[in-house]
Amino acid sequence: MDMECYVSMPKVELHAHLNGSVRDSTLLELAKDLGEKGIIVFSDVEHVILKNDRSLVEVFKLFDLIHILTTDHNTVTRITKEVVEDFAAENVVYLELRTTPKRNELKGMTKRSYVEAVIEGLRGVCAVDIDFAPADIELEKWDATCMNNASNGLTRKKIYVRLLLSIDRRETLEAALETVKLALEMRGNGVVGIDLSGNPRVGDWKTFLLALVFAREQGLRVTLHCGEVPNQEEIHGMLDFHPERIGHACCLEEDAWNKLKSMKIPVEICLTSNIRTNTISSVDAHHFADLYKLKHPMTLCTDDSGVFSTSLSKEYAIAATAFNLGKKEMFQLARNAVDFSFAEERVVKQLKKLFDIAE
Ligand code: 5GP
Repeated sequence: MDMECYVSMPKVELHAHLNGSVRDSTLLELAKDLGEKGIIVFSDVEHVILKNDRSLVEVFKLFDLIHILTTDHNTVTRITKEVVEDFAAENVVYLELRTTPKRNELKGMTKRSYVEAVIEGLRGVCAVDIDFAPADIELEKWDATCMNNASNGLTRKKIYVRLLLSIDRRETLEAALETVKLALEMRGNGVVGIDLSGNPRVGDWKTFLLALVFAREQGLRVTLHCGEVPNQEEIHGMLDFHPERIGHACCLEEDAWNKLKSMKIPVEICLTSNIRTNTISSVDAHHFADLYKLKHPMTLCTDDSGVFSTSLSKEYAIAATAFNLGKKEMFQLARNAVDFSFAEERVVKQLKKLFDIAE
C-alpha cells in the first residue's frame, strides 16, 4: 500500500492532544508575533519549535512554550479549527480531541472560557461538515443536511468530533474536580470524557482518584496515560481502577502485562511518540506486535501530530511496514477503533455504516 491508500482510508483518532497537534507554521507565526511584541525572543524559540528529536523531558518543556504561544481565547479557537480541519483532510472521520482546560488571569481566561473557546473553534470549522453535538442544533436535521449535500453531489468530507477534558498531573484535586464538573456541564457540547495526562514523572495519580471516581459515577468515560515510565505500583493501581482505555502502556512488567491482557482494556498506541521520546527503543521492539497477535483491543493514534511531525496516515503506514500488515488488516484496525470510542450510540452506528460503505 502506498501512502495515498492510508490517507484515503477512513480512520478514527482517539488520542490527540490539542496543543500537541498544532501546525509548525502556526506556532512559528504566533512566536514571531510575540517576538515583535517583545514578549519572547523569536530566535530563542524558532529552533525549539522546529526540532524533531526530543526526549520525554524536552517534550514537556516544549509544551510549556506552546502554552505561552497559544493561551488566549482567539488562538485557542484558531488552533482547534485548524487541528480538526487537518485531521479531516486526511480522512479521519471521528476525532476524540483532548485538551487541558487552562486558567490565565492575564488574559481573563478561566477553565470554562478556555473550553468555550475550543467549542467556538469547532463551530468555526468550515472546510468540512462537522458534527460535534452542539446543544443548540437538532442533530437529526443536521445528519439530513449532510446526506442532502452528499446526494446533491456536494462531496464535502464529514468529521465527528467529541472532546475529552484532561487533568494535568501538576494540578491539585480541587482543580481536577473543577475540570470534571466543567466536563459534566459541557456534555451537551460534545464533551464525553476525562483524560489524565501531563509529565508522568510529576505528581501522584492517586491525588486525582476521587475526581476520576466522581467522573465515572456521573457517566463520563475515563482514559489514563499509563506506563510511560516504569512505575509498577502506579501501573497496577491504574489498571485496578479499570479505565475504559489507557494511553501508551509502554513500561509494563510481566504481571502488569498479564493483568492488562486479561482485563482487555483497549490501548491507545502512539508509535512515533513512543520512539521519539525513547520510551520504546525501536518500532520492532514495540508492544503493538504482541498485542496485535493476541487480538487485544487497541487503536493507532498520533498523540501529538505537531510535536512529533506525524499524522494518523503516517502511523498506519509505519505499523503496516513494521508489522507486515496488508490493506485488509489496516482497514480492520481502523474500523475496530469505532468500538473503543466514547461517542454515543447514534454516532457509533453512523461510523459503522461509513466503514461498510468504504470497504
Ligand atoms: P493540551 O492539553 O494543552 O491541549 O495539550 C498538551 C498537554 O497534553 C501537555 O501539556 C501534557 O499535559 C499533555 N500531553 C501531551 N502529550 C503527552 C504525552 O505524550 N504524555 C503525557 N503524559 N501527556 C501528554
